[in-house]
Amino acid sequence: GNVAMDDILHGLNPAQRAAVTSPSSVLQVLAPPGSGKTKTLTARVAWLIAHKQLKPWNIITCTFTKKAAKEMKERIRGFVGEELSKQIRLGTFHAIAVQYLRQYGQHIGLEKDFGIADASDSKAILKRIIKKGEFTIEPGQALGRISAQKVKGLGSDHMVQKAKNIEQQEFARVFAEYEAELKASNLLDYDDLLLRCCFLMRTHPQCVSNVEAVLIDEFQDTNSTQYELMGLFAQRRNAITIVGDPDQSIYGFRSAEIENLARMRRQWPDTLTINLQENYRSSGAILHAAQNIIEQDKSRPPKKLQATHSPGQRPVLRKLPTAAAEASWLVSEIERIRALTGDMLQPSDFAILLRSAALSRVIEAALGKEGVPYRMVGGMKFFERAEVKLIIDYLRAINQPNNSEAVERIVNVPARRIGDATVKGLREEASAKNVSLWNIICDAAQGRVRPSTKVTAAAEKGLAAFMNVILTGQRRLASLGTEQTSLVGIINLIIKKLDLQTYLKNKYENEHEVRWSNVEELIAQAADASNPERLKATMEEDALPTVEGLDQRTPSNEDALSIFLANIALTTSAEEKTAEGTEPVQQVTISTIHSAKGLEWPVVFIPACYEGSIPHSRSDDNDEERRLLYVGMTRAQAMLYLSCPIKNTQREETIMSSYLIQPGVTSFFEEHGPSMSSAAVKGLAATLKRALPSEDALSKTKTALERDEDNYWPVNGEEPPEERAKWNYGKADNALPAFGTTRPAPCFH
Ligand code: ATP
Ligand code: MG
Repeated sequence: GNVAMDDILHGLNPAQRAAVTSPSSVLQVLAPPGSGKTKTLTARVAWLIAHKQLKPWNIITCTFTKKAAKEMKERIRGFVGEELSKQIRLGTFHAIAVQYLRQYGQHIGLEKDFGIADASDSKAILKRIIKKGEFTIEPGQALGRISAQKVKGLGSDHMVQKAKNIEQQEFARVFAEYEAELKASNLLDYDDLLLRCCFLMRTHPQCVSNVEAVLIDEFQDTNSTQYELMGLFAQRRNAITIVGDPDQSIYGFRSAEIENLARMRRQWPDTLTINLQENYRSSGAILHAAQNIIEQDKSRPPKKLQATHSPGQRPVLRKLPTAAAEASWLVSEIERIRALTGDMLQPSDFAILLRSAALSRVIEAALGKEGVPYRMVGGMKFFERAEVKLIIDYLRAINQPNNSEAVERIVNVPARRIGDATVKGLREEASAKNVSLWNIICDAAQGRVRPSTKVTAAAEKGLAAFMNVILTGQRRLASLGTEQTSLVGIINLIIKKLDLQTYLKNKYENEHEVRWSNVEELIAQAADASNPERLKATMEEDALPTVEGLDQRTPSNEDALSIFLANIALTTSAEEKTAEGTEPVQQVTISTIHSAKGLEWPVVFIPACYEGSIPHSRSDDNDEERRLLYVGMTRAQAMLYLSCPIKNTQREETIMSSYLIQPGVTSFFEEHGPSMSSAAVKGLAATLKRALPSEDALSKTKTALERDEDNYWPVNGEEPPEERAKWNYGKADNALPAFGTTRPAPCFH
C-alpha cells in the first residue's frame, strides 16, 4: 500500500522525488557530490518494486563497489522487506557478469568452472611472459595497454596486424601470448568477464528477456564495454536510470568515457535529465572550498550547488616540515578532536585519503605509534598475503587443475625439491604437446616425460607428492555439500597435507603467529561462506530467473568452491571481505581517493598535497587530477584538512599542489595557527549535530511532502494514461527471436 510509498519518498526533496517517481523510462540524474544521487537511485529501485510492481529479480542495478551494493541492498530491504530485497540483481558490473556467465556461459562455449584472473594474477602472467621473451615493456604498463585495447573490443590479432614498429610488435606479441595463456588456463580477466557477457547477451538476448529496468550508479566512470553491457541488459525494455557527476570522473586512466553521457542521450533521444542542486553532506565552508578548486577548470560549464548546512569551520591547509611531522601532526589532530568532542566521534568517523597507496607507510607508522586503530583500504589485500594466497592457489588448482598459473606457483611450495629448471622444462613440454601443466606433472610423476625435460628422481617424488595433494583434494571436492565435506574440510586437508604450521614457523620465525592468524581468518571466512544456510541463501540470490528457450546451469552445492573463489577474485582492493557477523571494529580509515568515491566521513584528511603527488607525476591528465582532489575534498562532512610536507619521504623539497596556490584559493582555507583552535573543534560538534537530520527536520520534510505530494505522479490510484504509455511497463513484448537467430539489438548501432 501507500505506507511504503511514504517511506520511500520520506525525507527527499522535490527534485529527488521527481527522479524517483519519473515515468520516463530513460533517465539521467546528473548532480554534484553529496546531492543524494545514490540515495535517489536506491529509492527508485524500491519505488519500482513497491509501486510499479516490478519483480525484484527483473531489475538490474550496478554499483561501483561491493560495499556500495551491500549498503544499497540494506536500504532497499528497509523499504520492501527481506524477501523481495534478496532477489534484486544488485552488484558491480563484474559480479553480475559472472552470474550470467556461470549460468549461461555454455551457450558461448565457455567451460564450466572458468577461473577469474584478478589484476595481480594478470600481472604475474605478464611478468613471466615478458621475462621469458626478454621483452622490455614493464608488466604494469603492458596490462594497462592490453586492457585499453580490450575495452575497445580490439583483440591481439588486430594489434599484430597493425603493429608498425618494433615496440608495437613487441607489445602485440606480449598481448597475444597473454591471451593464449589465459585461454590455456581457462581464466577470464576482468575485461573478459564484461566482453564475454556482452557477447552472450548479443547472441542470446533471451537470457535478459526478463529484465525490466536497469539502474547504474557512478555512471561517469563507466567504460565503453560497461556502457554496451548496460544497453544489452536493457535491450528488452530500454528502461535505464543512471546517476552520475561529470565533475567526479576519475577513471579516465582506465578507459572510462565521460562521453558516455552524451552517447546515451543520442542513443535514447527521449532521455530525461534531472539535476539536483542541494548538497546534504558537507558544511558550507568545505563545499565552497571544493567548488573553488573544481571551478579552476575553465572548460567546465558552471553549475549551481547549494549548501544545506551552515558554513561551519573553514578547512585547514597546513605546511609541515617533513612527511613524518605531517603524519604525527595528523594523528595528534585526530586525538585532540576526539578528546574535545567527548564520545561524539569514533575513530571510524575519520578518514585519511591518499593520492596513492604508497604514501600510507609513514601514516600507518604514526597511527601505530599512538595506538590508534586503523584499517587500510586498497593496500595489501588480505587475499594477497602469501600464506592466504598459497591456500587459495591450492583451492584453485583443486577446483580447476588446468589453471596452470596457480599450479606453477604452488608446485614447489612448500619445497619439494622441484627446481625452477624442471618447472620450466615441464611448461615447455606442456605447451609443445598442447596440454596443461597439470597433465604433464601427472605424466612426470610417473616418469613419462621426454628425457629432454630433465626430471630428477627427487623431483619425480616431489611431483608425485604434489599430485597426491591435488587429487585428494579433488576427491573431497566431489562430495562437497554433503555432510562429510565442507569447504573448511578441504582447507584443513590442505593444511594437514602441507604441514602448513611447521612451514610457516620455519619460514617466518617470530612472525609466524600473525601469519597463522591470517590462515585462521581465511578458515572463518570459508566457514561462513559454506555454512548451509548461508550457502542456500547465496545460491538463491545468485540464481538468475529462468527464461524460456535457453538452458541454464543452476548452481548446486558443489559450486560452493567456485563461488567462494569467484568472490575472492572480485573483491577489489577497495574492500576487504570480512566474515559475516564479525563486529565492525572502530577504526580510522586510510584509503586511496579512488576507493573513497561515493563515501563520506565527518572528518577527512588529505595529506601530501604537493606537485608530483597530486597532480601525480605519472598522470598526463591535469583536469582528472584536479577532479580527484575535488572528489577527496567532497567526502568530508564537517571538517577537512589538507596538508603538504615541505620535504617528502625521499627528503626532496616539495612544491605545494598547483591547485592550492591559485590566486584567491587561500581565502577558503585556514592556514595559520598550530592547528584548528579548540573553539573551532567545539564548533564542529555543533555542525555535526546539525548534519544529522534531527527529528524536527524530518517532520518538517514530511509535512512538505504531504503538502505537495499531489504534484508528483503517481500518488494514489490511477496513472495518467499518456504517462503509462510512455512508461510502457505494462505490456510485454513477446516478439523475441527463437534461440540462435539474431536480430538487430534495439540499442546498438
Ligand atoms: P556522491 O556524488 O559523493 O556519490 P551522492 O550524490 O550519491 O554523492 P548521497 O551519498 O546519496 O549523495 O547522499 C549524501 C548524503 O546526503 C547522505 O548522507 C544522504 O543520506 C544525505 N541526503 C541526501 N538527500 C537528502 C535529503 N533530501 N535530506 C537529507 N539528507 C539527504
Ligand atoms: Mg553516490
